[in-house]
Amino acid sequence: MISPDEALARILTTLERLGNEQVALREAAGRFLRTDVAARVTQPPFAVSAMDGYAVHGADVSAVPITLTQIGEVPAGSRFEGEAPRGTCVRIFTGGRLPGDLDTVVIQENVTADGDKITLLEAAPLGAHVRRAGADFSEGDMLLKGGCRLSPRDVALAAAMNVDVLTVTRRPTVAILSTGNELALPGGPVGDNQILSSNAFGLAAQVEAWGGIALDLGIAKDTEEDLRAKAALARHADFFVTIGGASVGDHDLIQKVLTKDGLQVDFWKIAQKPGKPLIFGRYGDVAMMGLPGNPVSALVCAQLYLKPALFALQGAADPAKANEQQMVLLGADLPANDSPRQDYMRATLSPDPDGRLMALPARTQDSGQLATLARADCLLIRPPHAEPAKQGDTARALLLT
Ligand code: AMP
Ligand code: MG
Repeated sequence: MISPDEALARILTTLERLGNEQVALREAAGRFLRTDVAARVTQPPFAVSAMDGYAVHGADVSAVPITLTQIGEVPAGSRFEGEAPRGTCVRIFTGGRLPGDLDTVVIQENVTADGDKITLLEAAPLGAHVRRAGADFSEGDMLLKGGCRLSPRDVALAAAMNVDVLTVTRRPTVAILSTGNELALPGGPVGDNQILSSNAFGLAAQVEAWGGIALDLGIAKDTEEDLRAKAALARHADFFVTIGGASVGDHDLIQKVLTKDGLQVDFWKIAQKPGKPLIFGRYGDVAMMGLPGNPVSALVCAQLYLKPALFALQGAADPAKANEQQMVLLGADLPANDSPRQDYMRATLSPDPDGRLMALPARTQDSGQLATLARADCLLIRPPHAEPAKQGDTARALLLT
């Protein structure tokens, strides 16, 4: 058995980043950027008004009341061509370009207008309500960093930078093979002695959420022929995940059978709960992870190891940090962890009366029980041989949501 940290380190050292491709902005969210990207324009490109009102000389409006003469109007998208001498003002709207001579905007709520005579009731500081040129960023500013995962906000920023195509890492294809004579697909008839196959659905959704493309290879029976035939379909994927059959029971065939087709096991078994019997290795040229079949074990292992692996394939700056962790308060006493395995306990998060995050562990932590996983917001991390903990103690949690 190796520790979770060592398992993750060994997985990440074997994986190489995939190649690049170009994507349009509409396809860019969730993708991993390859290059630093500089702004192609200055934003705003010129001084604009932040409010509806009147563009004025700041020097005219330091004392009130004062009456100015309106000599023109600039809605957004147009320009005031004339000169605006002292004592005059120009009607302006949000986003309107400030006439060159004027430096301050008075909001319309603070004036009374009578024909072209505008009387100011409140003084305005010099530069009020003006967004100066370059206040957001300047042409050449390096605003997006290679290795980052593009958020919807980053995509908006790229558009504002006048960048319409981005270089990102290709999405990894992940072949998923469920195994087990007992498995039936949801929605159909469920025969005697059958169990619904749930893992592949959760796993495919996780893969897509982490930037991959899931290829569901279906369910292999626990026979050598079927397992070898279905596994062969994964040869052209970037990553191969099997579900179930990862232990050494009579019907656990993954290691026994797939070694005949070139499976080389790097490690098997991690000192953790749930998810001890995880296999990692190579199936021919393809990186392979053999997840345990218990639904919670499978999805928790995917969270702990497959997510960072997919981030590494996509060139994330720090794939080991793919899962966000946070310190939380315990909402209940916890017994000692008197085993050499690190515990990942399903827990819900809610604010305590002071607004601090409090984690309440599910009462049962059986690795067959999916309902508690679906409800969980985090996994409380209990290191090997952890002492008993009291309600209100702090603990580390891996965030799921
Ligand atoms: P195994 O690792 O194959 O021994 O499976 C362990 C447990 O997980 C058994 O109860 C299986 O029925 C269950 N199991 C295996 N694969 C799946 C799956 N794809 N979906 C839901 N349960 C599964
Ligand atoms: Mg099985």
